[in-house]
Amino acid sequence: MTSFLSICSLLSSPRLEETVAIRGWIYRTRSSGKIVFATVRDSSGIIQVTIKKGNLPNVQFEAAVSASIESSVEVTGTMHKDERAPGGYEIRALSFTVVGPAAPYPITEYQSEELLLDNRHLWIRSREQTAVMKVKATLLAGAREWLGENDFTEVTPPIFTQNACEGGVTLFKLKYFDRDAFLSQSAQMYLESLIFALERVYSITPSFRAEKSRTPRHLTEYWHLELEEAWVDNEGNMRIQEEMVSAMVAKVLKERKEEMEILKRDIEPLKAVQAPFKRVRYEKMIDLLHSKGFDIPFGADLGAVEERAITEEEVAPVFVTNFPKECKAFYMKEDPDDPRTYKCADLLAPLGFGEIIGGSERETDLNKIIQRLEEQNIPQDPYRWYLDLRRYGSVPHSGFGLGTERIVKWVCNLDHIRDAIPYPRTVARVYP
Ligand code: ATP
Ligand code: MG
Repeated sequence: MTSFLSICSLLSSPRLEETVAIRGWIYRTRSSGKIVFATVRDSSGIIQVTIKKGNLPNVQFEAAVSASIESSVEVTGTMHKDERAPGGYEIRALSFTVVGPAAPYPITEYQSEELLLDNRHLWIRSREQTAVMKVKATLLAGAREWLGENDFTEVTPPIFTQNACEGGVTLFKLKYFDRDAFLSQSAQMYLESLIFALERVYSITPSFRAEKSRTPRHLTEYWHLELEEAWVDNEGNMRIQEEMVSAMVAKVLKERKEEMEILKRDIEPLKAVQAPFKRVRYEKMIDLLHSKGFDIPFGADLGAVEERAITEEEVAPVFVTNFPKECKAFYMKEDPDDPRTYKCADLLAPLGFGEIIGGSERETDLNKIIQRLEEQNIPQDPYRWYLDLRRYGSVPHSGFGLGTERIVKWVCNLDHIRDAIPYPRTVARVYP
C-alpha cells in the first residue's frame, strides 16, 4: 500500500530525488500542451506537481489535463528543488489519479461576500479559512493546557435552560414539549453550582444570543469559554484571565507562524501580550473618553466605539474594572469600597478590537440578589435552584466568559467575527 506523506512534512524535510506520494485537492492548475502544472493542497500545505506527457501512462496525463480545481487526487513522483514553485519544491509525477472529479467550482478569485457566505461549505477549504481554524484550535488547546495545569476541571453544562443569564432581550425562546425553554446564553450559573463539587471548573459550549443589531463582533451562536473559581476574588479572577490569555497567545506565536503569514497578520504586536495587563477603573475610562470628546454619562455601558477609542493606542489587553451597577447583571458582587459599582472587569483587546471577556466576583448575599431580582422585575421562580447555592455553604467566588470568536478575530486581525467560525449564524443567516 502506498504511504502518503503530508505536504508540510515534505516541505520541512524534503526527500530530494526520492519517489514520494501525496494526496489532496487541486488548488490551481494550468496546462500548456505537453505539461500540466497543478498545485496540490492538503490540510497541511500546498506543493507544485508537474505532470509531463511521457513520464506517466497517457490516460493519466489526459486525466491531469482535464482535472479541474478542487478535484481530489493521488500523486506519486520524484521530489526536486524548484525556486519558481511555491515553497521552493516540486513533485514530478510518475502517476496521477483523480479520486473524485470536481464540477466547475463556483468560487473564483473575486467574489462577493454574499456568494462566499452562500458557499461557505466550499469556502472553508480556502487557505485563509483553514489558517483561521487552525489558529482557533491552537488558542483552545492553549487554554485547555493552561487550565489543566492550574487545577481546573472541564465540565459539560446544559444548553436547554429556563433561566436567563444576560438579560431577556437576547434570549432565544423555544417550545420544550409543553413548556417554554431557552437556549443558553451562558453556562455561568451552572458552573457556579459545580464549584461546590469541583472548586475550579470550565466549559466550552455554544452560547446563543438573539442579537438583532448587525455588528462585526456579534454572532447569534458563538463558542463560549467560561470559568468559575471558588475562593477567588475579582483581582484573582483577573490574574487567571491575564495568565490564560497570555498562554493562549504564546502558543499561537510558537506553533502558528505559517498560518499568521497566510493571514498577513503582523505578529510583532502580539509579543506584547504578557501578564500582567493594565487595570483601569470604569470611572477613569469615562474621564478619558470625555478628554477624547465623547459625551458619555457615568452609568452608560461602553459600546464598540468607546472601546475602540480606549484601546486604539494599547498594545496589550486592558481590564476595565468597577462598572456601575446599572450596566451589569444582578449576580455581580457589590464593591464595598464603592457601592455604586460591582467588583467586575471586562477585558478589552488592544488596537481597537474591544471586549473579549466579561467577568466578575459573584454576589454571595442572598438578600441582595433577591432584592435586585425584585427591583428589576425578574421572576424568581426559574432561579430557585440558583438561590439555593447561597443557602448551602456559599463561598466567595468569581468567574468569567471569553468569546472564542472574539479572541480569534483579534489574534488573526479579522475585520468581521463571521470569519472566526466555520458556519456563522447571524440575524441574516442560518444557511448553510
Ligand atoms: P457585548 O457588550 O460585546 O455585547 P456582552 O457584555 O453582552 O458583550 P457577556 O455577556 O459578558 O458579553 O459575554 C461574555 C463574552 O462573550 C463577551 O466578552 C464576548 O467575548 C462574548 N460575546 C458576547 N456576546 C457575543 C456575541 N453575540 N457573539 C460573539 N461573542 C459574544
Ligand atoms: Mg451583548
